[in-house]
Amino acid sequence: MIEFELSPQQRQLKEFLHWFAEQQVRPASLEADKNHDTPLPLLQQAKAMGLSMESVPSGGGPGGVEGGQGERQGNRIGVIAAEELAWGDASFVLNLPGAGLGGPPVRFMGTPEQKERFLSIFNGPELRWGAYALTEPEAGSDVAGIRTTARKEGDHYILNGTKTFITNGAKASWNVVFATVDRNLGRAGHRAFVVEKGTPGFRVGRIMDKMGLRASETAELVFDNCVVPVENLLGGEERYLQREGFKVAMQTFDSSRPTVAAMAVGIARAAYERAREIARQNLMLGRPSPRYAAIVEALATMARKIDAARLLVWKAAWMADARVPNTKEASMSKAYAGQIGMEVCSMAIDVAAGAGLLHDEYLEKWFRDIKVYDIFEGTGQIQRLVVSRRIFDDLGVRI
Ligand SMILES: Cc1cc2nc3c(=O)[nH]c(=O)nc-3n(C[C@H](O)[C@H](O)[C@H](O)COP(=O)(O)OP(=O)(O)OC[C@H]3O[C@@H](n4cnc5c(N)ncnc54)[C@H](O)[C@@H]3O)c2cc1C
Repeated sequence: MIEFELSPQQRQLKEFLHWFAEQQVRPASLEADKNHDTPLPLLQQAKAMGLSMESVPSGGGPGGVEGGQGERQGNRIGVIAAEELAWGDASFVLNLPGAGLGGPPVRFMGTPEQKERFLSIFNGPELRWGAYALTEPEAGSDVAGIRTTARKEGDHYILNGTKTFITNGAKASWNVVFATVDRNLGRAGHRAFVVEKGTPGFRVGRIMDKMGLRASETAELVFDNCVVPVENLLGGEERYLQREGFKVAMQTFDSSRPTVAAMAVGIARAAYERAREIARQNLMLGRPSPRYAAIVEALATMARKIDAARLLVWKAAWMADARVPNTKEASMSKAYAGQIGMEVCSMAIDVAAGAGLLHDEYLEKWFRDIKVYDIFEGTGQIQRLVVSRRIFDDLGVRI
């Protein structure tokens, strides 16, 4: 039997986060968008409340959160939290302190000593971030084509290359950086290093000025004969015999894509609710009656697509909690939520018409923010490719 009810623990969390998003996060979001950052006091407040990148965007991580009867539900809690907080402001979610997308590779692959060294820094009261640096100017979707090199010299690796579009990469205490020891080896040559702030040869390039999610930092990172100690190679050399570096880069997405999709659902829901309120006010004023049918139809379409996207997200998160392979479902949820998010935000502006374009109207910001959900963590095209590959894998055909 399929159960759609939230547990009392999940419902309580959802209600609490909704209250926080409504009272604190959303009111600060337009200013944060203009200033390109979330106000520090708000992040400090979130940290004091126990909100971090560990509790939200990584979906609770592979360890998960234990539920009432020892049931693992970290990923489900992660997607509920991500939707609710992104309903307030998606940039705020990405700005939450913690290891972020850098957390899963350290947890999946790190030695016990590395996990302790790199993850324990987030336990204190200070605001600290980790980040995940895979994308390069010439290797975005084509992850296997990364060109950043790692050359072993004694007890160090020397990294050379550039990473681009790295969320929180500049402010991070460390970045998980993917590099190749030999491009001829393809995926088998990939390695994951933890590069700490201040490492010789590592510098931050430009901070990228974007259309949406403007309060979230996106950085270019430069490695110029960057000297990384061998102890910072995640998992040690023997872990890489079976293309582990590439696998870990991809495994990260199985847990993060449903959470990113949940954020898209949160933005879409915010836009839908705003459009519904504008429509309600207009209809109560008796205008614009000729558009009544179209507006009612638009609202029904938005509500239906949001619900469908959420069900895909919850299924992918449930599978992750149950330790059921969820690559296909994670990509389905991300592809669908990113796509319908854009449709819903656009339809919401149609409902509001001119008012929806004003800079001090949230709809304009959400319209800009939602676009990236069909780009980062793998574009919509790539998600559809992942899904179709899995479909044909099931048929025993390699495409
Ligand atoms: C705000 C933001 C934050 C980001 N944060 C991070 C981060 O923290 N860490 C990180 O490593 N990266 C991050 N990224 C990078 C992001 O993951 C890449 O932008 C994304 O993977 C796409 O790569 P690309 O931009 O190089 O586009 P390309 O890969 O050059 O794609 C261009 C177009 O070609 C299509 N395409 C490419 N290959 C195929 C194919 N095989 N089949 C069909 N279509 C294809 C794509 O779908 C797209 O439409 C971030 C990006 C943004 C915008």
